[in-house]
Amino acid sequence: MDKINETQIGEAVSEALRIGGNDNGKLFARKLNIKVSLSDDPVWTCARCRRHHLHRSAGICTKCFGPLTSLQTSTCDLIWNSNYLAFSATSGREPIRLHSEELTAQTDDQVGRQRLFRGVSINLPTSERPPIRIVDEIDVLSVTTTMEVGVDIGNLQAVLLANMPPMRFNYQQRVGRAGRRNQAFSVVLTLCRGRSHDEFYFAHPFRITGTLHPHLL
Ligand SMILES: [Zn+2]
Repeated sequence: MDKINETQIGEAVSEALRIGGNDNGKLFARKLNIKVSLSDDPVWTCARCRRHHLHRSAGICTKCFGPLTSLQTSTCDLIWNSNYLAFSATSGREPIRLHSEELTAQTDDQVGRQRLFRGVSINLPTSERPPIRIVDEIDVLSVTTTMEVGVDIGNLQAVLLANMPPMRFNYQQRVGRAGRRNQAFSVVLTLCRGRSHDEFYFAHPFRITGTLHPHLL
């Protein structure tokens, strides 16, 4: 394939965008022509890296830049069945909300965020607008260690620790927030990073969950 000058192709792309009403490389959703794929639409799969393409991509794979076959290799419905996200979208599964926020010492309205996480949406005189329950309620709260003390975030269904807490009592304080009251199930997942502290407790999980208090040793 002949080499194409980088500047020329850049100009051609920005000119095509400009003609379509998307000036300065800024894309406007309502000015894009979006084609939703149908079940029997063709798919070209890269033989080298297995990325699927819904167009010929000028004969070049968009991931590994290897050559892309000119003959279609599959159809969309076959790809949907083997793709977790596509399968959920095309099988008509009811969508669920997953509203995620963070709560740190820098969060302006910490109390408000805790309230929405607990599923309490009330209209306060200081609110900018009335709360919209389905939009404002929070499902996942990403917190720092400041949450360990003095903050009541209610009952949790799951706790994910991004590293191994320093001591047994830190661990218990964090995971102990899940599975209270009448919850039948709760999940706690701890990510052990590749550092000596985490690796030690990964190898000896009993030491973080069940060793005696230092005063009793
Ligand atoms: Zn490829």
